[in-house]
Formats: sequence, structure tokens, C-alpha cells
Amino acid sequence: MVTIVVKAGGRALMNNLENIVSSVAAAAQQGHRLVFVHGGGDLVTEYEKRLGIEPRFVVSPQGIRSRYTTEEELEVFVMVLGGLLNKRICSRLAALGAKPVGLTGVDGLVLRAERKKRIVILDPETGRKRVVPGGYTGRITSVNKDFLWRFLSDGYTPVMAPIAYDPGEGVLLNVDGDQAAARVAGALPADALIILTDVDGLILDGKVVERLTTSEAEKLLEEGRIGPGMNRKIHEIIRAIDQGVKYAVITNAAQPDPVQRGLEGHGTVIEQ
Ligand code: ADP
Repeated sequence: MVTIVVKAGGRALMNNLENIVSSVAAAAQQGHRLVFVHGGGDLVTEYEKRLGIEPRFVVSPQGIRSRYTTEEELEVFVMVLGGLLNKRICSRLAALGAKPVGLTGVDGLVLRAERKKRIVILDPETGRKRVVPGGYTGRITSVNKDFLWRFLSDGYTPVMAPIAYDPGEGVLLNVDGDQAAARVAGALPADALIILTDVDGLILDGKVVERLTTSEAEKLLEEGRIGPGMNRKIHEIIRAIDQGVKYAVITNAAQPDPVQRGLEGHGTVIEQ
């Protein structure tokens, strides 16, 4: 029996929901202690369109495009990720015999964050750097691991939407799903952090990297050899392993039983 944090990104989740959920349920039924962190940005975008809200994206000076969360957008985030999608995942897990507990960061104060006051973006018109207010996006500052352990010890599977609570301002914030999963894994600490995504793992020179130490991973990041999306995952994984997670695996969510495949080391395994 091991303690696992599984994270599924938005696109991977929406395309493989049943596959992922049945794999999570199977791992929980084998007696593993499991926390499931889910994304779902595409579903948020879909509901924004229905509500006539235009999603906004910004580009960082490093070329990373990310969602810009306005107050209006945060509302949809909470409704769709913390509400509809979170409960849909929970009901599928329950139907498969698991014991889910759906959470956002404010429930049990499980994820606390501070708001990013300012962010640097590239002005779409001039292409120059510009400092703008950070919107409703946060950086995770702490994880209430005791709260999670209570559920885990009782055989429940916490299902977490990446929404955190800012105790300074008393507001909810959108946080990065990879960061949420990695911080939870680091805080427990988990034996394994399994990141399910839409590629087979970290790809370098057209091939999946099977094994990587954290120092090799750090070097690749410094050299800028890992593209946007994947670079954030690797950065968070290094931190989680530094906090005591034994290993992390980045693997394809579309494969059969992806959690088990991840535990067996298919994909990219990162360890100390
Ligand atoms: P998720 O929504 O699952 O968190 P992201 O889009 O944030 O996924 O990150 C996964 C993406 O990272 C891949 O679809 C791929 O386009 C991108 N990526 C950038 N560099 C690499 C790399 N070196 N190896 C694999 N994927 C990479």
C-alpha cells in the first residue's frame, strides 16, 4: 500500500475521463491512499462561451501563454471546476466503488495561497514587457496535510480542484494544477506523484526520456530545453522530490490503466 497523488490535466481529462477515473478507482480499491487533483480549463472556457465571457490569455516574457483570471472568470472557475466537474468525477468514482471527497482549497483550508500582485506580460501590441495586476491567480503557500491524512486513513479519496484560499484577502484563487498536485504530494509526503497528460512523457530529441534525476532535470530547465507546459511540471516535480516524494512519473492519460502504468514506471520517471 502506497500513498499516491495523481494529477490529470484538463485536455487529458476531458478526452479520457472514464479511463482515468476507473484507473483512480482501481488504485484506491487496491488499498492505495490516493489524492486526485484535476484540471479542466477547457470546460471552463466552454461555459464562459455559454455565458458570453471572452477568456483572456497573457503571454509571459518567456513565451508561456496562460489564462488571465478576472473576478468574473474566477466565478466560472469555481462553478465549473469546483462544482460540476469535481462532482462529476466524484460520482463516477463512487459508482466504481471508491469513496470520494470533493474539495477545493477552502474546504478544510486544504490549499492556501497568496495572490500574485503583479505579473509581467508581453504587450500584445508593442511586444514590450508590461507589468499588470495579477488577477485572481495565486501561488500556493501551504497545504493542510493533517486534513487530507484523516480522509486517507479512513479510506476516502480526496478529489481536488486547483482552487485555493487566500487568507489575507479572504478570496478564492485559481492555482496551477501541477503546482497543487506537487505541493500536496510534497506535504504528505506521497510515495509517488503521477502526472497524467496528453503526451507519453518528457520528450527530448523526439524520444521519451525514461529516467531522469532531479539534478539532470534542473540542468535541462536551466538550458531551456523543455517547452511550456512540460517545463512547469518538471519544475514542480523537482520541488516535490526535494520535499520527500520518492518518485514522480509523467505518463499518457490515454493508455489503459494509466495510474498503474505510472506506478510501474511507464513514461518519464524522475527521482533523486
Ligand atoms: P496538462 O493540461 O496535461 O497539464 P500542458 O499542456 O500544461 O498539459 O503540458 C503538456 C504539454 O507540454 C504537451 O502537450 C506538450 O505540448 C508540451 N511540451 C513542451 N515541451 C515538451 C517536451 N519536451 N516534452 C513533452 N511535452 C512537451
